[in-house]
Amino acid sequence: MNTVKLKGTDLEISEVGFGGIPIIPLAKNEAVAIVKYCFDLGITFFDTANMYLTSEEKIGTALEAVRDKVVIATKTTQRDANGAAAHIDASLKQLKTDWIDIYQFHNVSNQEALQQILAPQGAYEAACKARDAGKIRFIGISSHSISTAMQALKTGLFQTLQFPFNFIENDPVNELFRLARQNDVGIIAMKPLGGGILERADLCFGFLQQHPHVVPIPGIRAKKEADQIVEFYRNSKPLSKADLKEMENIRSALGKKFCHRCEYCMPCEQGVQIPSVLIFQSAAKRLSPEGVSAWLAKAMESVAECIECGQCEEKCPYNLPIADLLKENLTLFKEIEETKDLPGT
Ligand code: SF4
Ligand code: SF4
Repeated sequence: MNTVKLKGTDLEISEVGFGGIPIIPLAKNEAVAIVKYCFDLGITFFDTANMYLTSEEKIGTALEAVRDKVVIATKTTQRDANGAAAHIDASLKQLKTDWIDIYQFHNVSNQEALQQILAPQGAYEAACKARDAGKIRFIGISSHSISTAMQALKTGLFQTLQFPFNFIENDPVNELFRLARQNDVGIIAMKPLGGGILERADLCFGFLQQHPHVVPIPGIRAKKEADQIVEFYRNSKPLSKADLKEMENIRSALGKKFCHRCEYCMPCEQGVQIPSVLIFQSAAKRLSPEGVSAWLAKAMESVAECIECGQCEEKCPYNLPIADLLKENLTLFKEIEETKDLPGT
């Protein structure tokens, strides 16, 4: 796998990194084996977060013996100095390392969060102290909001930006990525496969290769996924006209109102399983009516508990009309349930 220099830093990393979310539910030995496998394939950039439960520990265990050959990025959701300092020490311990290459403030997707981090006794102070002490090397930010990310970059305080980027979420290309390049900020693309919504990995990575200054970090939970990605990069071909047409078809089929499964809307106090309900339409396209029913029936039942309080919509960084989408998905689910019960179907 080719190596690239991540802008804003002096870090040399593989042109594709490893996103640490999908290993969360795996048994530790399985997760460790996958991380090691990815390293053996040439992936040298690993991204995780304090918020990803066991992910740091699994990555730390897998990479302990090759620590000086890899670049590790992690994140904190803490906004104050004490909380961030505690998270930095916890991450160092979980990752079994003396230093973190990139320390990121997680999901800074509104002005309030950015102001909290940068305020006196805010989390940024803790990161600077940790950098002075050699515990972290570079300071980054992750965000789902173009306007907040633009504000953050304009401060000149962040060396990297992690942002969702794929062919259905290509809004950042113009203003945001241009600003990042001008300010010498490295760009890390989260959700290069649309958070699992996009099935054609060849189209996703073909699109990303048109943006060589962006380093994608696909979530990898199985060796065959790692093989596919590495194979694609080894034998990459330019996108054909048919590929571009297919991308356009997928874009218009999904529209702007799709759930990215980031789970920032959760938990719902009423117990509504929001992301599971909102993935219903894409699941229904891939699974049989029986399959989708077995998988999502409980989640769909939870929609009845929604009192339309609006709290989830305030937390959703994509401004999705969640309450309406819940109802829409429930109606479609009921229609499928009825079809399933018809004789001869
Ligand atoms: S609007 Fe419904 S789903 Fe959203 S938080 Fe309120 S009760 Fe839960
Ligand atoms: S509804 Fe919004 S916040 Fe919730 S998972 Fe989907 S995109 Fe994320």
